[in-house]
Amino acid sequence: MITRFAPTPSGYLHLGNAANAILVSWLAQQHGGTLALRIDDMDATRVRREYVEDVFTLLTWLHVPWQSGPEDVDDFDAGFSMRRRTEYYRAELRAAQARGLEVYACTCSRSQLTSPATGGCPGGCRTAALPYEVGRTALRAHVPRGTLISVDGAVIPVDEVIGDAVLWRRDDLPAYHLASVVEDRDAAVTHVVRGRDLVESTALQLFLAPYLGAEGFVETAFVHHGLVTGNDGAKLSKSQLSTGGRLPRTEQQRDEVLRTAAALGVPHGIASAT
Ligand SMILES: [Zn+2]
Repeated sequence: MITRFAPTPSGYLHLGNAANAILVSWLAQQHGGTLALRIDDMDATRVRREYVEDVFTLLTWLHVPWQSGPEDVDDFDAGFSMRRRTEYYRAELRAAQARGLEVYACTCSRSQLTSPATGGCPGGCRTAALPYEVGRTALRAHVPRGTLISVDGAVIPVDEVIGDAVLWRRDDLPAYHLASVVEDRDAAVTHVVRGRDLVESTALQLFLAPYLGAEGFVETAFVHHGLVTGNDGAKLSKSQLSTGGRLPRTEQQRDEVLRTAAALGVPHGIASAT
């Protein structure tokens, strides 16, 4: 049994991230499994060294042990930065195309995508056969009409809720979903714990997995837990969750993290993806 904590260091980790670290740690302990640490630093414009450092000090402060992945910031820089693997992800995307995934270049800006891109992007780029050009186009995966993926007992129409997802960004970097599935495949992750708001992302990743040679990913057990809410029960946005500063490393704060994790639901009942 292998699970992972996979934060994106584009800011200091917030209460939701900390609670997720506790949940994956509990899950690994219950199963006598392994917790892998993966730091997704692909987004070079937002990642900062102090945010990477924050991941290690947070886990240490929460007494969350991890058994694989970088030991500290220097170790991360030396051998675990995902940014150094851009060409590897590019080759993975080509391999996915060779396995039959239809990918097309798209010039549409994010602001044009006001609703899920059922049937393709709004500009009709799919049939235009545009070349990929850094700074001008992104690469999208075509999600055929009627693509239904079952997650946690729910059937998700991926073409309707996600549409043709970007797999390669216009700044010549892999998009999150591509890198995430490849990393989970390579680490042989068996259990993924994430918020309920990512169920649709999970469905897209399950759609992509066979093309990425990640047949094992289809067998992954997913736990989609509740979301961190405010006193009024409303979901907190990322900006509300984060004060912009580092979570205070106090006993009181640690208690709040543990309470939050418990409230999200201890992942006993593991739902299978299929
Ligand atoms: Zn387009």
